[in-house]
Amino acid sequence: MPIFEYSCQDCGSGFELLVRSDTVLQCPQCHSSKLDKQLSVFATAAAADAAPQLPAGPCGSCGHPDGPGACALH
Ligand SMILES: [Zn+2]
Repeated sequence: MPIFEYSCQDCGSGFELLVRSDTVLQCPQCHSSKLDKQLSVFATAAAADAAPQLPAGPCGSCGHPDGPGACALH
């Protein structure tokens, strides 16, 4: 069961909801149904970890743009 984070547009409170198919989405504080779905902290962190690594830069010894060790191929 996915857990989503929401913030209430009416009272501004943030909360997490375990969302089932029959779950009624409403604020636990004011029972408003005007909710903003938040990106989960876990998903954000995972996306950051999955970000491609930047190239290490030119080789320090020969300046080859493919990075350190590229000059060994020549
Ligand atoms: Zn509310």
